[in-house]
Amino acid sequence: MNKVHTIAVIGLGLIGGSILKSLQNKGFYLIGISRSDETVKKTLELNLADKCSKNIEDIKEADIIFICTPISKVIDIIDKVKEITKPDCIISDVASLKSFIIEHINNNDKPINFIGGHPMAGTENKGIDYAIDDLFVEAKWVLTPSKWSNSQQINKLKKIIESLGAKVLITDPKEHDKAVALISHMPLLLSQALFGFVNNYPDDNIKKLALSLASSGFRDMTRLVMTNTELVKDMILGNKINIEESLNGLKDYVNYLTNYINQDQEKFLELSEELCLERKNLYSPEGKNIFT
Ligand code: NAP
Repeated sequence: MNKVHTIAVIGLGLIGGSILKSLQNKGFYLIGISRSDETVKKTLELNLADKCSKNIEDIKEADIIFICTPISKVIDIIDKVKEITKPDCIISDVASLKSFIIEHINNNDKPINFIGGHPMAGTENKGIDYAIDDLFVEAKWVLTPSKWSNSQQINKLKKIIESLGAKVLITDPKEHDKAVALISHMPLLLSQALFGFVNNYPDDNIKKLALSLASSGFRDMTRLVMTNTELVKDMILGNKINIEESLNGLKDYVNYLTNYINQDQEKFLELSEELCLERKNLYSPEGKNIFT
């Protein structure tokens, strides 16, 4: 297996910047590509890459490329880089949606060395200023191979991702999009609904009192409202069918719980205990997902 010497990251925001930070001092030649002069300047000032520019042609020597732009730009960038890269270069991405990208790759008439990716780590912030050097430690990182991917390429990419501290999970892209609707995109919409409902509550006195009392519970439940708006647009609009299906299931589950509140309170408390225990088992005390 050829050694990975050069890694390029395209789109140096929260995730791209965090990948560069996590790849420091691991012996790779690092190339950064971004859209704005300001981000290129910051990347060089912070010494995060050996070379950084706005010129996509600079990735041509890369062995592995991570595309970390907003979701809506990924396909355009793949179509550009596939014309420039070395034949054995592996192209990956970090986009929060996978099906439409893999479909595009699979429908290409010539092979593209593309393996979809999605690190299950992030924050509500955007831009390189918020990049975090240990963002991926103990995080799950989904890979969705395309019909052109082979096991040698998958293993090569997997090793690099594991060197960032992440745990790789290989899934089908459609299943990925359904799963992230449940645990990421629907919660974003619910977070918006909760905040919007309270913030627009018709009784102004109660609304003001509620907002002035809002503490850690409300803060945790509404953090996602602050997600960067481009990401909100791409995730919610791009995954709306799966989100709608998830919401319908959730409504049924809320009814299931509330029926017990009205009809069998003992059963409701039993269910509450069970949920409490299972939720405690999902994350480590440091907040990392430990579900296997
Ligand atoms: P972000 O902080 O806004 O970063 C996106 C970066 O892409 C920007 O800094 C921008 O660079 C750059 N960019 C935009 N168009 C470009 C182009 N045409 N060519 C080169 N660079 C371009 O967003 P992010 O949160 O890192 O999200 C990036 C990707 O990560 C998305 O696909 C998202 O689905 C995925 N993701 C996000 C999270 C999360 O929690 N945020 C988690 C997992 C995956 P300039 O600064 O130069 O303008």
